[in-house]
Amino acid sequence: MKLLKVAALILAGLIAASVHGQSRPNLILISVDTLRQDHLSIYGYRRNTSPNIDRLLRSGTWFTNADSNVPLTSPSFASMMTSRYPHETGSTRNGIPMLEGMETLALVLQKNGYTSAAFLSNWPLKDHISNLARGFELYDDNFFEKRWVFFNDERDAKDVTALASAWLEKGPKPPFFLWAHYSDPHSPYLFHPGFVFHEPDKPDTDLQRQIDAYDSEIAYADNSIGILLDKIHELGLDQNSLIVFLADHGESLGEHAYVGHGRNLYQESMRVPFGLSGPGIPRGQKIGNQVELLDFAPTALGGLGIPAGKTMRGRDLLPQLKGEAAWPQHFLVYFETYPGAVLGEGAGKIVNLKKPIWLGMKLDELTVLYSVSGSRWEMHNLATDPKELKNLADPANSNFIRYSDHLLKWYKSWEQSIALGRTDALSAEDKQKLEALGYLNQ
Ligand SMILES: [Zn+2]
Repeated sequence: MKLLKVAALILAGLIAASVHGQSRPNLILISVDTLRQDHLSIYGYRRNTSPNIDRLLRSGTWFTNADSNVPLTSPSFASMMTSRYPHETGSTRNGIPMLEGMETLALVLQKNGYTSAAFLSNWPLKDHISNLARGFELYDDNFFEKRWVFFNDERDAKDVTALASAWLEKGPKPPFFLWAHYSDPHSPYLFHPGFVFHEPDKPDTDLQRQIDAYDSEIAYADNSIGILLDKIHELGLDQNSLIVFLADHGESLGEHAYVGHGRNLYQESMRVPFGLSGPGIPRGQKIGNQVELLDFAPTALGGLGIPAGKTMRGRDLLPQLKGEAAWPQHFLVYFETYPGAVLGEGAGKIVNLKKPIWLGMKLDELTVLYSVSGSRWEMHNLATDPKELKNLADPANSNFIRYSDHLLKWYKSWEQSIALGRTDALSAEDKQKLEALGYLNQ
């Protein structure tokens, strides 16, 4: 009798586990590198750069106030996959891999029976310098195409789509996690025939040509994303998949006298597109509450019915976006950024390897930014000064005193214990590639 009861319990457990495993939705993450939010049509851009991204976001819920926590590729993905700050993952710069032993989204999914594959396209995400492959059965960072004559550092959007589609067509064992990462909008920007925006009334300047080319890259990537979305639909996978769309950071296109990302923490680099679609996600819902990329992993897991990893800091946004819980009235986001990639054997010569260049925070309409190396402060009011041109950092301003004090206290709480991954991961080839991407400096 007792044995029978035990056997029945085991059987019931097995059935429950099996049904449970198969009933979970798949997770599909579509990410685009260096994609600033305000250059997508759905976010109000005047050019029709993103018809396919728009239709994906409109089929679910999307956030207008979503910020990255660090405007650098490898640190941003390490941060969002672990839901931890860069000063905790150890990946503070491109070329410094995340620490061993971090709990990642892919590892949590693996424990829950998911089959995972990632198709990467950008050099900083190569596993040997990012340590992001753990938990994936397939982490395809083997770029073989040359996007430029002398330079094969990226995988073209159409190839990301082709590889991801081929993997889906093979019928991976469900539930699965697919990550398709597109890097076309990363500099250097190329014009793509058929995706060219020209406005004759615009001045023919170098900067305008860069903006036009950047938009061409977005539209080109968007077209390939559309083909992947069609494939997902054709295979019926949109019925049982949570699809998340996001960018790792934005891009400064001349704002604050800078073209690129990583050197400052203004909104053109920090604000990102972010949204999700799938079973149970309200359709056509635009949300203006503040969210951050630290929320990505817990939210994705929440959408699959899996609790967030124990070490994950971010929030599961599902209860709020489904209207089951109230949004907090105020939500504070922290930003960090660090200098360019380390120089391999020259790393020992860099004195401040553990020092950020800028820290920041965003609370309601205010951003507070601190140049750690220059001991300089800025405060901006996004409601009245969305371009962050007017510095309100004034010792006579009580808000500034309060917020700058808060940001400094936050920094002091981890300054001495900042995590740092291996600084000897870069090969001569890595250095050449990162230099071409504008990442190699002190
Ligand atoms: Zn990036």
